[in-house]
Amino acid sequence: MKILIVDDSSTMRRIIKNTLSKIGFTDTEEAEDGSQALKKMEGIQLVITDWNMPNMDGLTLVKALRSNPSFQATPIIMVTTEAAKDDIVEAIKNGVNSYVVKPFTAEILKQKIEQVVGTC
Ligand SMILES: [Mg+2]
Repeated sequence: MKILIVDDSSTMRRIIKNTLSKIGFTDTEEAEDGSQALKKMEGIQLVITDWNMPNMDGLTLVKALRSNPSFQATPIIMVTTEAAKDDIVEAIKNGVNSYVVKPFTAEILKQKIEQVVGTC
């Protein structure tokens, strides 16, 4: 399964990438913001995105993906912080399938992925 990691922090992208590889997902792509993510969607089967990013934030990315017939059903997991947890309601309303709160364990990420894409 090809996964797109979207985060403006290279440290966070590395953490997510390492966590994914720990649970068996090694086919990953990275993008620094929503607009870069939109250009890298070819073949992507799961999007894991940050909320706060320059240029195009996570919520705007979610809206853009959901308004495109090609990506209407692509699973999206939002990475958020405890403080921003309330925002997740809005994200889910706009088409996010699930979310993880930073910091998260490999086990939690695995559960969320299984929840949104089925057992893989
Ligand atoms: Mg960020």
